[in-house]
Amino acid sequence: MIISGGTEEARRAEALRIAAEALCLSAEEDRPCGRCAACRKLYGVGHADVLFLLTPPEDKKWMPVSHVRHLRGEMYVRPNEGRRKIAVINADILNPHGQNALLSVLEDPPYYAVLLLLAQNAAVLLPTVRSRCALRRLPPSGGVSAEAEAIPEVEAVLAALRADDEWEILCACFALEKIGRESLSGALDQLAAGVLREIPGADVLTARRYGDIIVQIRRWQAALDFHVSAGHICGALAVALAPQHGTGSPTRPLRAENGPPREEVSSWSK
Ligand SMILES: [Zn+2]
Repeated sequence: MIISGGTEEARRAEALRIAAEALCLSAEEDRPCGRCAACRKLYGVGHADVLFLLTPPEDKKWMPVSHVRHLRGEMYVRPNEGRRKIAVINADILNPHGQNALLSVLEDPPYYAVLLLLAQNAAVLLPTVRSRCALRRLPPSGGVSAEAEAIPEVEAVLAALRADDEWEILCACFALEKIGRESLSGALDQLAAGVLREIPGADVLTARRYGDIIVQIRRWQAALDFHVSAGHICGALAVALAPQHGTGSPTRPLRAENGPPREEVSSWSK
């Protein structure tokens, strides 16, 4: 299971709660009771059947793959004392190699294994990891609903796109970069949804262009999984959203002022 959203503290607390529920010795309706030996160990000295992979070694940004493989191996060893064996993994410190090292146990875990991946933003995890996990999304730290709130920077990009103003688009995309990589996938979701809403009212050419933009946005979201920087993505976004002569308002000339028809024209017919 992936536990995403909320604060780091909230994600860990939720993981501990799930672990306690799985290991608690009290009657099912009381779990987690917080009083039994299993609960006390878990919230105290530590429970032998709960493994943690939360922070990389001091000089490292990412958790070394060898550590991930070790934990994976441990998950195939039966629990010591409980019904379950539980791994709590901070997925934010797993690079693609680290995530790949978990795939086999995520796909075919032993019956007693519970793997809890904690991620600030589940969208930045590899699709192969996401597709193997249930997702539990925690409400944002402010306590508001789990549904993403509109990000003002995205609304500015949409307004600039509607205005079909190259300079405004450039400035808005530059501002969008500042929200940071972690929030960018959610921002791109909001942007794709916003562009989609524009399509019914647009003329045919603009609608096609918007369709192309949505396809590109989805590609960049996938690129985020491979640690492409926010700057690269927002730069590409600015280029893709820039007014295309001949595809904007019907009053624009059908070709660029000083050149042959843009190559985008031929890309539509693919
Ligand atoms: Zn208990």
